[in-house]
This record gives sequence, C-alpha cells and structure tokens, in this order.
Amino acid sequence: AQQFGMTEALKILGIKPINEGTSTGNNHFSNGEIIESYSPVDGQLIAKVKASTAADYEKVMQTATEAFKTFRLMPAPHRGEIVRQFGEKLRKYKEPLGKLVSYEMGKSLQEGYGEVQEMIDICDFAVGLSRQLHGLTMHSERPGHRMYEQYHPLGVVGIISAFNFPVAVWSWNTALAWICGDVCVWKPSEKTPLCGVACQNIIAEVLKENNLPEGISCLINGDYKVGELMTHDKRVPLVSATGSTRMGKIVAQACAARLGNSLLELGGNNAIIVTPDADIKMTVIGAVFGAVGTAGQRCTSTRRLIIHESIYDKVKDAIVSAYNQLRIGNPLDQNNHVGPLIDVDAVESYKKALEKVVSEGGKLIVPGGVLSGEGYESGCYVKPAIAEANNSFEIVQHETFAPVLYLLKYSGDVHNAIEIQNGVAQGLSSAIMTNNLREAEAFLSVAGSDCGIANVNIGTSGAEIGGAFGGEKDTGGGRESGSDAWKIYMRRQTNTINYTTSLPLAQGIKFDL
Ligand code: NAD
Repeated sequence: AQQFGMTEALKILGIKPINEGTSTGNNHFSNGEIIESYSPVDGQLIAKVKASTAADYEKVMQTATEAFKTFRLMPAPHRGEIVRQFGEKLRKYKEPLGKLVSYEMGKSLQEGYGEVQEMIDICDFAVGLSRQLHGLTMHSERPGHRMYEQYHPLGVVGIISAFNFPVAVWSWNTALAWICGDVCVWKPSEKTPLCGVACQNIIAEVLKENNLPEGISCLINGDYKVGELMTHDKRVPLVSATGSTRMGKIVAQACAARLGNSLLELGGNNAIIVTPDADIKMTVIGAVFGAVGTAGQRCTSTRRLIIHESIYDKVKDAIVSAYNQLRIGNPLDQNNHVGPLIDVDAVESYKKALEKVVSEGGKLIVPGGVLSGEGYESGCYVKPAIAEANNSFEIVQHETFAPVLYLLKYSGDVHNAIEIQNGVAQGLSSAIMTNNLREAEAFLSVAGSDCGIANVNIGTSGAEIGGAFGGEKDTGGGRESGSDAWKIYMRRQTNTINYTTSLPLAQGIKFDL
C-alpha cells in the first residue's frame, strides 16, 4: 500500500493501520465480527473494521433518535450551514478520500477524486436548497380561512449503499436529508467498509466543531443482515437503498410490510442508440468510456450499443480499434484506462457472461480474458470484451457488473431502435447519438425511452447532481440528488387555519347543534 502513499492517506482519514487493531468510525458502536478490507488493486489487506451487532444497532438507533429531537428544531438554513462546512471539509480531504476510494474500490484515481467532487457538489446544492424547502399555499373554499402546506423532517433515514460508489451515494442522501432535518444511519457496502469509516470521521469533526449531537450521522457496518435490522425497523420511516435489483425487491417488501418508505436505486441495462445521423467520433468516446469506465461497474455503464445496420460495420470497427488501445492496470496510475473488478466473485460473473453469450449464439469480437502476472496479482483485472448479440438473449437482458459490451443491430427507423432499447427489465439510463432532430425528439417523446435518464449526444454514464437521478421498472423508481428529490426526505402536512368566529364545514355541510 505504501507505494501509493496510501498509509499516509489512511492516517489522515483516521483509519487504523492493520497492526493497530480495528477501525471504527466515530460513534460507531461495534462489537461484532471483523470485516477485513482487501484492495482489488493489489490484493493487500488494507485495514479491518468491526461489524455491528443487533445490540450495537440498538445503541445507534437510540443515539440517532435522541439527536433528531434537537436537530429538527434547528432552522433549515442553519442546517444548511452545517452541510456547507461539511462540503469545506470534503474539499480539505479530497485527496486522501479520493485515493482511498480508488484503492478500496478499484476505480481510477480520477474517478475517485470525481466521486469526492460529487459529494462537494451535492453539499453546495443542498446549502442553497436549505432556504427553499417550500410548499404551496392554496385558496380555501371557506371564508376567513387560510390553507397551505409545509414540509417537516421524517426522522431517522436509513441508507444502504453499494460498493461501486462507496462515498458519493451516501452524500447524495445525507446532504439532502440533513438540510431537511433528518438524521442518518448508514450501512455502507461490506466490500468498502473503510470508505464508510472515513466519511463518518469527516462528518464527526464537523458535528463536534458545532457542538451538535453525534447521532446526526451514524454508521453501522456489516452485510445484509445488518441492513435488515433497518429495513424491518418501524423507527426508520425511509430506507434509501442502492444496489442490485435482487436486493431492492427484498428491501422494498420489508419496508412495505411495515408501511415504511423505500427509495430504490437499483441495477441498469443501459443502451446507446447509434443512428445513421450519429457523429461517429463522439459515439466512440461516449460508448467506450461508458462501457469500460469504472471497469463497467457503474449503474449507468453502457451495456448495449444499438446500431443502425447501414453504419454497423463502421461503428464496430471504430469501437474495436479504440478497445485495442486501452491500458489495463493499477487505477492509481493515471496512465491506465481500466482498473480491476471489485473481487474475484465479480471476475467469475464476467467469465460466465462471456461463456453464456457464446452459448446463446453470440460472437465475441473482442474476446476479453482474465489478466495474470506482474501488476495483476489480485486476480481482479479483466480485459474489456465486446460481443455481437441479440437483445432477446438471456445474458443481454441481465446486468453483468463488468466491462462486457453487446452490439445489437437495428434496421428501419428509430422507433425500432427505441423498442430494442426499452425491451429490457431495467430502466435507468439511455442515450441516442444523432444529429437528426426528428430522431432525437422521438427518443425523448412519450413513446420514446422509458428510462429515468435519457440523453442526446452524450453517453449513458455520468450524471450531474442538479438533476433527479434514478430509473424506472427494475431500477426501482427512486429519485435522488437534484431537482425536487428532497421531498422524499420530508413529510408533507396540509394546514387550514380559521381566523373567523364561526366554524363553516368543508363541502358546505351543515351541522347545527
Ligand atoms: P448489492 O445488492 O449486492 O448490495 C448493495 C447493498 O445492499 C450492500 O450494502 C448490501 O450489504 C446490502 N444488502 C444486500 N441485501 C440486503 C438485504 N436483504 N437487506 C438489506 N440490505 C441488503 O449490490 P452491489 O454489488 O454492492 O452493487 C452493485 C449494484 O448496485 C448494481 O446492480 C448496480 O447497478 C447497483 N447500483 C445502482 C445505482 C443507482 O443509483 N441506480 C448506483 C450504484 C449501484
């Protein structure tokens, strides 16, 4: 780890080195089993974290519930000031935190820093929003009455996050939840527990400097069993869960069974439509970055390219030649384009996907493969692969969290391409490459893309925090981040005030005593 200056980064983030015991984020009550965090970059053990037991969880919930009682009374713009200070701290810790993200998760250093930048951006967004948590006023049908709505905080918001955005997803939720007056309990992915501890340490500093209760931000560690403590807990009115569709279905049912809310950000199966009017150069950049960036481990990664038959060979050749130039290796070395997958299980899924596409009749035109030897000791490095396939293949319908791109051909007009694009269970991100206004508008129309994100002349991957982020169908329907996504973190109350001396009833009902 030392060769990357990682020891220093861990120290700055308050994470104990392996020979000094286990790390616990501030206010993390942890007495459970030890989770060892290995880096997919070099296979080294980075540090250890203790998981939370059910008894630890109880303590966390008591701390959080107690903190809510005071935090909700703080005016929203003052809460915004806390989030502003948190954003400042993130600026200060951007380098070590970005490095840790890259080392523990395996994404490129640039993307690690990009993730922290996204945290900073959502803080800035939330600060402004803290003065705009407004409801509507309506005209009452009764004379001398005033009617309006207001938004109040919910209470404890539970956050369950995936390994691939180990810090940003948490901040998308917390920055909004905090300005809304909620307190948060976070269960990060068991594959990236150190990122959780690091973030918790950073916010704990801010809370301490402001004499605020530490329960405003709580951390619990462990696998799905720890997550289930929250999804079944009636004291948690909202669980925001990011991860696989399989997980989302379980979480949604557990929350619904107690009539709690869930905000789901689940898997995608994202496509770019390439029409005869596409700019091929832009298409190649968008598609290649979308497919191989983060080693294909983004929820918005490009999985399918739907190319018109008239330009199919041209696009295919351009993409294949770009793939030949990709450098795969240590993501902390900025010369490399593609880093490792998260673990060897992910490598197995990748291998199975390649076998499956061939067994279903597909053709591997960039064959892929697992890398070994010097620099690849972790066993997690794979070559990005491309297969010519059919949308109806089972494997194409499935989200494989790895750099596998499927080329699909369409004929006729753009509506045929849209049908293929929509013909999967997931509905997260979609894109069209075209300079033809009619095609672009058809893609964005009511009969166009059925995804939560639909882009024109941009790839599927990488969203800005200003817009609401999320997707439909098997992606779960949740929206986070920008626009009015804040509303899910609050409860709406309609208020009617009578300032007369009589009591007229609604709908003109007479009730004389
Ligand atoms: P995962 O579903 O294996 O795990 C995600 C989180 O859910 C982890 O913290 C895990 O411990 C927890 N979990 C799993 N089962 C649970 C249960 N029954 N109850 C409570 N918690 C449970 O996903 P992953 O492998 O970490 O991440 C990859 C997936 O996440 C991909 O499908 C990707 O598309 C998706 N993802 C979606 C978005 C989005 O915004 N739509 C963003 C990032 C990742």
